Amino acid sequence: MFQSLKDTNIISLQSIRSLAETEYKGPVVSLYLQLNPEKMVPKEKGLARFFRSLKNGAFEKRKDFIAGLPRPQKESLDHDLKEIEAFLAERPLPAKLRSLVIFKSGKALNRIVGLPVKTADHLAIDPDPYILPLEAILEENEKVLVIEVSKKESHFLVYQFGYCQEIDKIKSFVPTDTVDASIPGRVQRHRLTHLQWHLKLTARQASRLYSDWSCKVLVLMGEKRILHLLEGFLHETLREKIVRRVYGSPAANARDRKELIENVLRTHKAERETQAIEDLSRYKPDVIASGLRAVIEVCNLFLVRTLLISESLHQKGSVCKEHHYVSLDETECPFCHAPLLKVENVADEIVEIARLHGVNVTIVEYRQEFMAKYDGIAAVTYVPASLT
Ligand SMILES: [Zn+2]
Repeated sequence: MFQSLKDTNIISLQSIRSLAETEYKGPVVSLYLQLNPEKMVPKEKGLARFFRSLKNGAFEKRKDFIAGLPRPQKESLDHDLKEIEAFLAERPLPAKLRSLVIFKSGKALNRIVGLPVKTADHLAIDPDPYILPLEAILEENEKVLVIEVSKKESHFLVYQFGYCQEIDKIKSFVPTDTVDASIPGRVQRHRLTHLQWHLKLTARQASRLYSDWSCKVLVLMGEKRILHLLEGFLHETLREKIVRRVYGSPAANARDRKELIENVLRTHKAERETQAIEDLSRYKPDVIASGLRAVIEVCNLFLVRTLLISESLHQKGSVCKEHHYVSLDETECPFCHAPLLKVENVADEIVEIARLHGVNVTIVEYRQEFMAKYDGIAAVTYVPASLT
């Protein structure tokens, strides 16, 4: 049985990689399913129907592999696929999910991951789980360590994909540390020391958690004076990772805090998008491809090193998933000569292929208007297109 979706709040790259390192006795089903509204009609039934069409395609493609399986493994595979189909037909899914990723192999592997980002649809039946697209998505969406610090307490939170999880906290006893003229100097120094201990401990814990949770950026929240002191204790390499300081007293409740963090990260993402788009203008024009047709052309030649794409870009097209060949037309794959598979949105396929090839991908969500002059999609290529 599948674990509940709520258990997958923060997805660790390590846990996904360890799925792939495990050996499974039977075949593994890996499913990537985008949850767009067209597929949800009628309600959940549409999703199950779409899954069946993916399944037929996968069976056709893997017929030799499946035919070679011993009977119990074949039965187990059938059972897995039925279970997934039943899950898709019955479960109401959280509204903010844009994609589902499922890995299943009998009783040995039951993993379901809900993502608030788009993926390209894919069903694989292989001896191992197909984790590459998920790995790339996790790497692309940076994990943030948030430290909310007060004189007495430090809260450590990890944030990714709109999920927020408190991973640790420190409570220290600190007497009031404001300078009081009526108290002799020695006592005051003693009180400052308490605060310093607390912040030193916080800084040390921050370093450990930052690396344990493979975070990429740091957000600090708290009173200005406390944060200044804390920064003094932070290791230099960690200090460079601070993207925002939110000054003020601690959030009244978890919900306020989440909203605050989300705002900070939206601003940060918007800035990164602006930067990435501005960077495009620093290249010579002959290594920039813009517009779907031109980008597809360089994509098919595997020349892309950086890809920027508007989140809303949507265009029907076709693809050979095997040979990573994309087209706007209904044609055949030049590598295997099979007719290309029709897809609802070719942009998702381009992103998927780019991710698989280690291209630096930016999905532009907040600054889509700046992408207009590139017709919503731009690629930086390794060599000028004229040389190919
Ligand atoms: Zn092909």
